[in-house]
Amino acid sequence: MIPSVLPTYNRAPLAFERGEGSWLIEADGTRYLDLGAGIAVNALGHAHPELVKTLTDQAHKLWHTSNLYQIPNQQRLADLLVEHTFADTVFFTNSGTEAAELAIKMARKYWYDKGQPERIEIIAFEGAFHGRSTGAIAAAGSEKMVKGFGPLMPGFRHLPFGDHEAVQQAVSDKTAAILIEPIQGEGGIRPLSDACLKGLRDLCDATGTLLILDEVQCGMGRTGRLFAHEWAGIAPDIMMVAKGIGGGFPLGAVLATEEAASGMTAGSHGSTYGGNPLGCAVGAKVMEIIANSEFLADVGRKAAQFRQRLEGLVAAHPSVFEAVRGQGLMLGLKCKLPNTDVVKAGYAQHVLTVGAADNVIRLLPALTITETELAEAIARLDRAATALETA
Ligand SMILES: *Cc1c(COP(=O)(O)O)cnc(C)c1O
Repeated sequence: MIPSVLPTYNRAPLAFERGEGSWLIEADGTRYLDLGAGIAVNALGHAHPELVKTLTDQAHKLWHTSNLYQIPNQQRLADLLVEHTFADTVFFTNSGTEAAELAIKMARKYWYDKGQPERIEIIAFEGAFHGRSTGAIAAAGSEKMVKGFGPLMPGFRHLPFGDHEAVQQAVSDKTAAILIEPIQGEGGIRPLSDACLKGLRDLCDATGTLLILDEVQCGMGRTGRLFAHEWAGIAPDIMMVAKGIGGGFPLGAVLATEEAASGMTAGSHGSTYGGNPLGCAVGAKVMEIIANSEFLADVGRKAAQFRQRLEGLVAAHPSVFEAVRGQGLMLGLKCKLPNTDVVKAGYAQHVLTVGAADNVIRLLPALTITETELAEAIARLDRAATALETA
């Protein structure tokens, strides 16, 4: 008999009742050190006092009005994002997937309005993940995600991640945009080099192609900069954001330059829930905390130390781990043993990690995790690896 919850997930036999910072706690009081942070969503940890206060204060006032009216909280969050990024304008969604949908629509509408409606093709990359809508799975293109769901939305081309020559050859007078994650998350924490990102920007500038960055997972302070592309000293034309931006409240956004957004006039797109007062109150508080040079420098400092310790962990357990990769607190351990076994061995030591493609386990702790907790994480991962070696 089918379970009452549609069984599209293989869930671990763990259920948490509450959270405190970097800890998740079961009903019997058992504490787990959370290095997954709800897949990079709980950027400020669980039950952050300022977020709890912001959410409850707003809950007593107003939850939802629809976008038929002015929403001051939405305006405030948009202003904060515009102030701190390349963007001139922002549209709010409830998820990364919805952000992908708008990013695709915006790029096509741009060329349609420029009198080049044949420029509909979007170049995307192998190993990518952009969400679960029919558009987003077509954008990712992997057999795992698209098989059985055809016919797929046409107009996507898939190239090997980081193969600049392939991109150069693929861009044509049909190309609307290049869509890429600066660091692939689901694909196994695969960073694109700064040189590659710069190369894509140059190619887009030379051909008019729009550069769409998917920073749903790598954005919002995760790499030690507000957005990952800042490391390369470039800016996109359109950017998708979600996960960390709501700190756990479902919230996403598409950020764009005035030029890239020029086709999106009144009536061209919308959302019932997107940008609601409750989500935007929380989002604005998250931005206030993260878009701060001291906060980001602290992420970078902790990350550098953590990474060094992870290198030591890999060296100490060469039959379990192969390498560390990633940037800031978006880190992956490439495994030699099946990553699912490594994640399970972590559960036994009460440390939570998240699997990814390419036999990687992801370490995406709350950005507020302390140095002591990171040291504890290493100790638990070390015990998990030892248990696997002696099994
Ligand atoms: C999670 C993710 C998405 C999809 O976001 P949802 O909120 O799950 O719809 C898109 N792109 C990237 C890079 C992601 O990590």
